[in-house]
Amino acid sequence: MLIAGNWKMFKGPHETRAFLAGFRPPDDVDVVICPPYVSLAAAVDAGVTVYAQNAHWERDGAYTGEVSAAMLAELGVRGSIIGHSERRQHFCETDETVRLRAEAVLDAGLGVIACLGETEGEREAGATEEVLRRQVAVLPEHERLVIAYEPVWAIGTGRTASPQQAQEAHALIKSLHAAQVLYGGSVKPDNAAELLAQPDVDGALVGGASLDPTSFLAICFAAR
Ligand code: PEP
Repeated sequence: MLIAGNWKMFKGPHETRAFLAGFRPPDDVDVVICPPYVSLAAAVDAGVTVYAQNAHWERDGAYTGEVSAAMLAELGVRGSIIGHSERRQHFCETDETVRLRAEAVLDAGLGVIACLGETEGEREAGATEEVLRRQVAVLPEHERLVIAYEPVWAIGTGRTASPQQAQEAHALIKSLHAAQVLYGGSVKPDNAAELLAQPDVDGALVGGASLDPTSFLAICFAAR
């Protein structure tokens, strides 16, 4: 089981150190923390496994505001989230840029958590399968790449996919790609165990509930 905490644009270095000072997840669960860029070094220093939230596909160059996978590796970061729906929605991320970023991160020797999922409109239009097929198709098969199924309508909304909806989507994704598949979308301590018990759910990508050490630890322990 892999439980990853996506801190989004929360927690500078000071808050990161405070969170991790008393953070003791179970040994038999793989736990990854994904802080903002400015807090990566503080998290690495605390001894946890750290992923970034994005990485550029070039090693270096004239790309103001971007950070390369090689730079993350130099810092001791072990991988990156790629293609989060907030990047797709607000920063023009496309399936093609997701592919470029994922390949670059893998080439740098790092791990990838590649996010995909349908919007509410796509689900209502009966297009979920078509969307997932299209998004999965660009992802390379690699032992260091895991997929996070994150239905956009469930992210940060408190509306979780039912365990059956998650299982159905995960089974489809696994029929298309050999990766482990995490579920993401309003995972909380009170719904984690049931979601994680589904046969094709291999872990969780947790946003809001990863910001509080008590709730994030409860989810980590639910994964045992
Ligand atoms: C996320 O940011 O990937 C996420 C799933 O957020 P939340 O858990 O807050 O829905």
